[in-house]
Amino acid sequence: MQYIKYAFLCLLLTFVCSVEGRATSGAVPLAIYPQPLSCELSLTEYTPFDRIVVCAEGHSWVAKHLKSWYGKCAPQVVVDDNIANESAFGDEEYEIIIDSEGIKVRARSLQAVRYALYTLRQIAIPSRGTEQVEGWIVPQGRIKDKPQIEFRGVHICWFRETEPWEVERQIRLAAYYKMNYAVIESWGTFKSDVAPWFGWPDATMTKREIKRLKAIADDLGITLIPQINVFGHASQARGYAGKHAALDINPRYQPLFEPLAGWNWCLSNPETRKLLQALIKERYEAFGCPPYFHIGGDEAHQPSCPDCASKPYSQLFLEHIEAINETISSLGARTMMWHDMLIERGDSRWQGFVVNGSKETAAGFLKFPRDIIICDWYYDGAQSAYPTIDYFKEQGFSVLSCPWNNTGGIIAQSRYAHKSGIMGVLGTTWHHYFGGSLPNIYYTLANAMWNPEAHISTSVNDYIRQMVHTHIRQIGWDMKLKNPRHAGTYYEEIPPEPFLNN
Ligand SMILES: [Zn+2]
Repeated sequence: MQYIKYAFLCLLLTFVCSVEGRATSGAVPLAIYPQPLSCELSLTEYTPFDRIVVCAEGHSWVAKHLKSWYGKCAPQVVVDDNIANESAFGDEEYEIIIDSEGIKVRARSLQAVRYALYTLRQIAIPSRGTEQVEGWIVPQGRIKDKPQIEFRGVHICWFRETEPWEVERQIRLAAYYKMNYAVIESWGTFKSDVAPWFGWPDATMTKREIKRLKAIADDLGITLIPQINVFGHASQARGYAGKHAALDINPRYQPLFEPLAGWNWCLSNPETRKLLQALIKERYEAFGCPPYFHIGGDEAHQPSCPDCASKPYSQLFLEHIEAINETISSLGARTMMWHDMLIERGDSRWQGFVVNGSKETAAGFLKFPRDIIICDWYYDGAQSAYPTIDYFKEQGFSVLSCPWNNTGGIIAQSRYAHKSGIMGVLGTTWHHYFGGSLPNIYYTLANAMWNPEAHISTSVNDYIRQMVHTHIRQIGWDMKLKNPRHAGTYYEEIPPEPFLNN
C-alpha cells in the first residue's frame, strides 16, 4: 500500500496543479479543508464507503446526514462504543481509520463526529465505471485531528442586496470548514417589531428567516451571534454609499442620531439607549439566546449635536457602553466589541495599527468588566507582533484577532492568536462574500484557524479554488439549489475576472 504523508502530499498537489498539463502519475488527491493535524492517505488503495462505525453520541446525526448526502447509496451506520468512543479525546477531537475492513470514527462528542464526517465527505468520491452514482469510495489511511484555536469565527454581513441564500451558503461553508461561530450583522435588513422603521422597508432578515438559519446552524454545529452597532455605523449602510437605513425614509427619528450624516447614535438622548436596549433584547431572542452579542463600537465620529458636545464625549461613550454591557449581561450573554475606540490615537505603541480612541476613553475603559470580548481588527499583511492584542490580553480581556481578506494577514494573525493563547480568531468578509473573495477568505481563514502552524498557501491557486468550488457545489446540493445564479461563486459567468482574489 502506498502511503504518502499529508505534508508531502500538499507539496505534491501544489506541484501537480501549478504546472498545467504536467500531471505526475496517479490520481490527483483531494485536499481536506481545514488541513487535519495529522493525515496519511493512500493514493491507490480505496475502501467502499458502504458502512461506518461511530459512537452512539453521533449515530442519528450521521445517519441523517449520510442519507441526505448520498441518498440510496448512504452507508450503513453501526454503533460500537467500545471501538468508537474515546474518553481521552477532547470535545472536537476525532480520529478516522480507513482500512480494508471498513471505516471507523473515534470521537466522544457529537461535534467531533460532525467534524469527522465533514472530513470524510471531502475525500469520498463516487465509485467509478457507472453512468450514475451507485456507491462511494474513500482512500485508505488514518486521520487524527483537533483544532488548535478554540474560537473560530467568521463575521457575515447581511446587506440590503444580500439574499438569504447567500447568508445560508456562508453559514454552511463556515460549518463545513469547522468554524464554530458566525456573527451576523444586519445592515438595515433586520425586520424589527420593536422599531419597524429601523431598517429598509424591503428588509429580508425576518425573524422567521433567522429561525430557519439558526436551525440549520445548530444542526451543522455552528453558533450564530447577532450584532447591532450601538455607537458609530448607526446608519447601517456603507459609509461610501451615503445611505441611512433609518433616516432616508423615516426622517422623524433624527433626534436619535447625530446631525452629521446620522453616523453616530446621539448618546446624550435617553431615548437612544432605551431603543437600543429593546432592539438588543429583541435580536438576542430572535437568535435563540446565544452566548455572545456583538455591539460594534468602531469608527465613531466626534459629536455634532450641542447636547453631546456639552459633556466630555468619552464619558458619554463609556456610560453608554457600560449600560449596554449590563443589558447584555442581564440577558445572559457576553458583549463582543471592536477594539479601535478603546485605545488612544497618537499613542506611539499602536503605530501602524487601527486606533480611533482618546486618552480618556482608553483610561476609562480599563475600569470595565473583563467579560467584554475585544475584537481586535487589522486588515493589512503579516506583522511580526500585534501590540494591541498583547495590550488587551495583559489587561485581562478575552481577545479575538480579526483579519479580513489579506491572506498573509489571516495566517499571521491566526498564528499569533495561537501562540499568544488568546480566545481565538474572528475573520471578516464585509462586502467580499462572493466571487474570488469567497475561496480566498474561507480557504485561508479555515486553515489558519484550525491548524495555524501547518503550511498554508498565501495565494489561492487554481487547485485550491477548484477544491473550494467542489465544496461549494456540495453545499449547493444540500441547499437543493435550482437557480444557476446560486451556483458557483459568481452570480453570472461573465465577467468574473476583475474580482479574482479581491
Ligand atoms: Zn448627540
